[in-house]
Amino acid sequence: MKLGIVGGGQLARMLALAAHPLGVRVQALCARPEDSAGRVTSALFESGDRLRDLRSLAAESDVVTYEHENLDPHDLRSACESKPIGPPVRALELSQDRLLEKRFLRGLGIPVAAFVPVESREELECAVAMLGLPSILKTRRGGYDGRGQHLLRDDFDVSLAWSRLGGRPLVLEQLVSFDRELSLVVVRDRVGEVRCYPLVENVHVDGILRATLAPAADVDPRIQRLAEDYARRIVGALDYVGVLAIELFECGDELLVNELAPRVHNSGHWTIEGAETSQFENHVRAVCGLPLGSTRAHGTSVMLNLLGTLPPRDALLAIPGAHLHVYDKSEAPGRKLGHLTVCAPDRRTLAERLDHALRIVDRGVGLQRRLKLDGWTRSTSSV
Ligand code: AMP
Repeated sequence: MKLGIVGGGQLARMLALAAHPLGVRVQALCARPEDSAGRVTSALFESGDRLRDLRSLAAESDVVTYEHENLDPHDLRSACESKPIGPPVRALELSQDRLLEKRFLRGLGIPVAAFVPVESREELECAVAMLGLPSILKTRRGGYDGRGQHLLRDDFDVSLAWSRLGGRPLVLEQLVSFDRELSLVVVRDRVGEVRCYPLVENVHVDGILRATLAPAADVDPRIQRLAEDYARRIVGALDYVGVLAIELFECGDELLVNELAPRVHNSGHWTIEGAETSQFENHVRAVCGLPLGSTRAHGTSVMLNLLGTLPPRDALLAIPGAHLHVYDKSEAPGRKLGHLTVCAPDRRTLAERLDHALRIVDRGVGLQRRLKLDGWTRSTSSV
């Protein structure tokens, strides 16, 4: 079995590392020889002709998947006419356009923040009058890691946001005053079997994921069931195959969907050591037509992204329960260079281990406070 992956970043790298023990050979379509995945698996290099590259990848693969959403759905469809693609191209199309995605979710009866499409300055004024301030103006396409969006608090922000984002199709969204940001990673196989990982809590700073606590603390079982119900509706409607990440806002006993990622996701990296089967292995299993593995968590974990520069490896590896993943990428401000997952059998031990890790990784972000771990060292409760 040969799996072709469109993209050569860290997600493709971790997919390849999970595929090898299953006897699944991987080929990644990389932009450059120094791409993260190119260092651990065989690579095809982009030639500048995207359609021809996708055709070459498909021709040499039994099944095709992708690690990012920055690709043309028409090219993918036509290149893979005779090969299975997972996740389905329809999911890719929805995730590329915030407006289509929100309408799709609303059509399934899944709550999202109130939104209004915006194409002109006049429409922006009307949308602001409808939703009120504060609200968030986002580009429909191409935004990620907090890019392509602007928080509007007053009229000055409205003008500034329009001067920065205007001219492109936009959507204005009501600002949600959430209690916390959660995400659910779900996997569906080719015969329709669905498994969900436990909800996790995500801490973003400036729109970039910094830390994931897995499972999220004290989740009401009703909220877990609600998230799984949304997940089943979404993957069922799309006849989905592979891993899907659903980003959520928890507001009291309400759960709103923020966005979907039709791929393995940064908030699922903890599953490599923290769950019985990682999201990467389950994605490979699903798209290759193999049975899914258990999504149960072992104990409790925190995943910390390592951005910009890598802290000393020795210091990180000296932390009990810590697992380091470096992506073999060159340093650049804000770039995701690796992650550290700290695992423990219970919360108290996790808090002690994290105390150690955050002294090295935190860099003034205040993750301990943001993860609300302060009381945990005294807590006697288990996971
Ligand atoms: P996004 O690119 O939509 O994932 O947004 C990046 C981050 O901005 C989210 O993880 C939230 O922290 C914040 N954010 C986005 N949309 C909203 C919203 N409607 N209300 C409150 N916060 C938001």
